[in-house]
Amino acid sequence: MHKKIEDAEQQADWVPVQPGLFTYPVPAGKKPALYANQCQTCSGIYFPKRDICPVCFTNGDLVDKEISGCGTVYTSSIVQIPSPSGIRPPYACGYVDMALENEDESIRLYALFTDPDPVKIACGQTVELVIDEVRRDDHARAVMAHVFRPVDKD
Ligand SMILES: [Zn+2]
Repeated sequence: MHKKIEDAEQQADWVPVQPGLFTYPVPAGKKPALYANQCQTCSGIYFPKRDICPVCFTNGDLVDKEISGCGTVYTSSIVQIPSPSGIRPPYACGYVDMALENEDESIRLYALFTDPDPVKIACGQTVELVIDEVRRDDHARAVMAHVFRPVDKD
């Protein structure tokens, strides 16, 4: 079984930055979505998903939630040195606040941005979740990750 998985991975020209964060390719007619979960005891929301709530230590009572659509830049920074994971500079990272659909709750996510341009990712800017290549791995495959793209204000 491991052999089949390895074969499939070697045939693909992309790999996820980490398994279980999102579905890629994005299914037709759907928006890119991140897989989070929520503690049923204290309502804490976590991405990536947790098995145990880090706030109230509830174990095994976390319910899956999908996060998709647009968010707001909370903070951003342009990085001028390579990341430890191999992302080439300049690249942009920071935090994005995303509201959960049909709820008053929101989650603040660590984020990479598509544009290393401080004007395009200023605090308060609307950004949308996309799945995009962030670097190449040792086999020249695209490493796909969740990133945020500025949405033009008209
Ligand atoms: Zn909790």
